[in-house]
Amino acid sequence: MVLQLSAAWDRPALLSTCTCNIMERRDYYEILGLDRTADETTLKRAYRTLAMRYHPDRNPGDNECLVRMKEVNEAYAVLCDGNKRRIYDLYGHDGLTGYSQSDIFSGVDFSSLFREFGLGGFGFGNGIFENLFGRGRTSTRERRRAADLRYNLELPLEEAASGTERVLEIPRRRTCTSCRGTGAKEGAVSTCERCDGSGQAVREHRSPIGVFREISVCGDCRGTGRFIKESCSLCGGMGVLEEVHDVTLTIPPGVDTGHTLRLEGEGEPGEGEKASGDLYVVVSVTRHPVFERQGDDLYMQQDIGIAEAALGASLSVPSLNGDCTLEVPDGTQTGSLIRLKGKGMPRLGSRHKGDLYVVVRVTTPTGLTQKQKELLQEFRRLGQDGEVG
Ligand SMILES: [Zn+2]
Ligand SMILES: [Zn+2]
Repeated sequence: MVLQLSAAWDRPALLSTCTCNIMERRDYYEILGLDRTADETTLKRAYRTLAMRYHPDRNPGDNECLVRMKEVNEAYAVLCDGNKRRIYDLYGHDGLTGYSQSDIFSGVDFSSLFREFGLGGFGFGNGIFENLFGRGRTSTRERRRAADLRYNLELPLEEAASGTERVLEIPRRRTCTSCRGTGAKEGAVSTCERCDGSGQAVREHRSPIGVFREISVCGDCRGTGRFIKESCSLCGGMGVLEEVHDVTLTIPPGVDTGHTLRLEGEGEPGEGEKASGDLYVVVSVTRHPVFERQGDDLYMQQDIGIAEAALGASLSVPSLNGDCTLEVPDGTQTGSLIRLKGKGMPRLGSRHKGDLYVVVRVTTPTGLTQKQKELLQEFRRLGQDGEVG
């Protein structure tokens, strides 16, 4: 809602001062640390600096940074767009109340900006699928690129080691082919009578200091300027259709939790002038019951008996490439680490392989037979005579 003196229509400075204290949102210029005259280059430089500082890739799990990054994204999205910036300069945040999140972010290609900065274009939220930056469903306004999608892929350790191929079923949205995104049955859309298509509701009140004009979003058409008499039957009035698209993904050997694979053009489909978005597959390797991964190396625990520990033994132990032989030297203590060279994880994009470390635990036997007891008693007696140890 914007309050303004009608006499002050062409005096924006006055207007912006009277609107700022209505809401407690931070000023976009302040967020980016800029003054109001900042040009495009300065704006981009400021955005870059803050994106480098707050980007979730650089601050994994830090919520404060995520909030800052979102704030910075929004400030940048508004100020880099001549029109939105003009509205913001004139009316502050209130000038943009009729804009949805997708309107705010329309026209800004964050993914390519982040690529330019060497950062990933993902990292917002935790759902299996979500549009980046909280962009809502496809708006009918033109954007340069459709939304990027994120897919969280869980992978067992074996497949992370061998590399694999997966067919992902990607739900995507495209503009409804029947109503072309209007959400209305053909011919069933008319101009909103209340606002006459402007999408705004204007009221005037008189007061001792002048005539106030109050501008808000039209309640009948929610700012669209259109009135839908009957919804499109194909999309149910949503203006978009959900479809499932298969994408074949090749996962290289050695991927680890947090690695991201980018599939260009496999995000939401582009239409007309607009290019398709990208698909970001974020890998998460599940915990293995036997092996624990630390970088390229694997760790596992192996129990051995006291005789094997004392005398040494050749044991068969599991590895990711099938069973292999573990040579336990004589006199092995519990907690010893035995390395099996090259039996760990492959390093992504290299021929190097990590090692498998076996942590040995010597177990004390229980439930001994009479014969075993006699032998151990014999063993103890020999030890007391000084012949062992
Ligand atoms: Zn439709
Ligand atoms: Zn209206």
